[in-house]
Amino acid sequence: QKKEWAKLKDEPTVTSEGEHVELVANIGTPDDVEGVLNNGGEGVGLYRTEFLYMGKSQLPTEEEQYDAYSSVLKQMGDKPVVVRTLDIGGDKELDYLDLPDEMNPFLGYRAIRLCLERDDIFRVQLRALLRASVHGNLKIMFPMIATLEEFRQAKAILDEERENLVSEGQEVSGDIEVGMMVEIPATAVIARQFAKEVDFFSIGTNDLIQYTMAADRMNERVSYLYQPYSPAILNLINNVIEAAHAEGKWAGMCGEMAGDEIAIPILLGLGLDEFSMSATSILPARTQIRDLSKKEMASYKEEILAMGTSEEVVEFVKEKTQA
Ligand code: PEP
Ligand code: MG
Repeated sequence: QKKEWAKLKDEPTVTSEGEHVELVANIGTPDDVEGVLNNGGEGVGLYRTEFLYMGKSQLPTEEEQYDAYSSVLKQMGDKPVVVRTLDIGGDKELDYLDLPDEMNPFLGYRAIRLCLERDDIFRVQLRALLRASVHGNLKIMFPMIATLEEFRQAKAILDEERENLVSEGQEVSGDIEVGMMVEIPATAVIARQFAKEVDFFSIGTNDLIQYTMAADRMNERVSYLYQPYSPAILNLINNVIEAAHAEGKWAGMCGEMAGDEIAIPILLGLGLDEFSMSATSILPARTQIRDLSKKEMASYKEEILAMGTSEEVVEFVKEKTQA
């Protein structure tokens, strides 16, 4: 099976009717890029920049960050690279920031919430990203957006830093797409409003599922509620994709679900544009997608979205795809 996958490394990802689907990878460090290219990744759909900040005693400097982002962009050439700004907090802590303990870290002070308040930290990252943008095809994505105001504020700070750099005589790419993660149900519900202002969405199902089901993604006792195929989750995902397309934008997914064998046919039918997964899942997914008809999967859309339970969804997909 491995041999069969390997043959597809330099082939495009196409459905049985020949429609292209974008398969990209999630990375955490510049060293991960080699694995992306070796596995035939068509880009990076999620660069988790937290690792630059973790496991050290102080914040990374602008230069350190510039080097890391430039390295990823250069290695990827003209392939898209979606960099997510700092998503610290929740399960990822930074000792040197000395943040107070919280009762509910996953519902607390984290990610964009922290970045908007500590814009001294945020601006350094944005400057590093903007400067690195000349080395490749950069897209910037904000994590844990809950409100339109947060997205506007983050974007305004980005625009300010762009102007600062330009007035300092620094070169910055003129076409950087700016998008957001959809991982808080509130944004999936009013995705139509967000779609008018973002360049793209990337659905973060790891968090979207935990917040929608009110089930901690790390808690074994409630893991039975952590249901990617729940019709509740699928309807939210559908809402996001429809909203994006209505505004001529694209919608991707960078949660674990994007590389899942049962989820892939469903997501294909819902019209997801970009699937971002661990590098090792790319060739198996490419192999699977070649045997799937997007048109057929799309014809089941209403039926799947109207189902009552995860189990029904799984049974249905297995029957239709013999997975
Ligand atoms: C997600 O929430 O789905 C996601 C991709 O982000 P992380 O797993 O880093 O929270
Ligand atoms: Mg997340």
